[in-house]
Amino acid sequence: MVSSTSIGTLDIQQSACLIMHTSLRKIKKINTSSTYLTTKDLQKNLLNQAAKMADALVQKGNPIKLAVLQVGTNPASSVYVNIKKKMADQHDIPCDVYLLDEDMPQEMLHKTIEDLNNDTSVTGILLQLPLPQHLNARQALDCIAPEKDVDGLTVINAGLLEMNAPEAMQPATPLGVMRILDWQKIDVRGMDVTVIGRSNLVGRPIASLLGLRGATVTVCHLDTKDLRAHLKNAELVVCAAGHAGLVQPNDLKQGVYLIDVGITPIEGSDGKRKILGDIDPTCLPKSTFQTKVPGGVGPMTVASLMTNAIDAAYLQAGLPRPTWQLPQ
Ligand code: NAD
Repeated sequence: MVSSTSIGTLDIQQSACLIMHTSLRKIKKINTSSTYLTTKDLQKNLLNQAAKMADALVQKGNPIKLAVLQVGTNPASSVYVNIKKKMADQHDIPCDVYLLDEDMPQEMLHKTIEDLNNDTSVTGILLQLPLPQHLNARQALDCIAPEKDVDGLTVINAGLLEMNAPEAMQPATPLGVMRILDWQKIDVRGMDVTVIGRSNLVGRPIASLLGLRGATVTVCHLDTKDLRAHLKNAELVVCAAGHAGLVQPNDLKQGVYLIDVGITPIEGSDGKRKILGDIDPTCLPKSTFQTKVPGGVGPMTVASLMTNAIDAAYLQAGLPRPTWQLPQ
């Protein structure tokens, strides 16, 4: 289902009007419309719920605080950390950012995380990736106490997700993708889905969540021999490759659902920074919907991080995980 209040609809007159008969008198047109999905309203709705949940928790005297760790000064990381901090501040979710030295040794990073694990005022810990080259991200992530792992990237949470365990903390971007599908009332059971990308952060957990819902999932990656063949039959494509314009209209079946996770920053001809997705914008007429880049998956990643932060605080307070409502 496509919500008319939260999306911009683009009628594709020329490409969607299929001439059924050549006789002028009997010309029939099939009008379809394809939609660029943006999730700003959905994000706002979830963040407002998060603000209320945080307030209710504080009123009961329980702690809530998100600790965001950034090692070094990677400019993209700084942008993402600032967005998270701003969203938390705007919704009264206490959030401290720790800017850590670029040259910090591995043991010191572990010690910093362990101190936050032991700090009962801190209920969520996020380690911004990527880390500087000399640091081992896997080892550092696994220092995070699973109950404070709001990004769902510890081996414990990754394993719980694979087991379909309800207590799993799901990574924010995959959770955001599933929320977009739920919001649009897309039932993936039995659906042929192609996921491009198999990172632990995005592609792999998205494929797992879709598979757990009953989709038949094909995971493509850089070693895939014939990506186009796997796209052609897909009813839903989720692309998380980081390769701008990787998916083109000729690769796709008419009516496909397109979810674009990819982000490639470029400098436009006007010298301004632009963000490109993995799915070419010309794919829109082939789709039922295509998530916009920027403005589609990105806002849901931030919203889902905040709902995870609330979930973690509630669970640590011995309270049930909140139920998050998706607007109609
Ligand atoms: P990654 O580099 O760790 O993984 C990329 C995956 O894509 C790999 O499995 C690789 O095999 C596959 N891949 C790359 N190029 C391919 C190609 N040409 N054909 C087939 N497979 C290909 O990246 P990641 O961390 O998984 O992130 C993927 C993209 O998603 C990046 O652009 C990243 O910036 C973006 N991202 C967006 C959000 C968001 O909120 N929108 C969140 C996280 C990541």
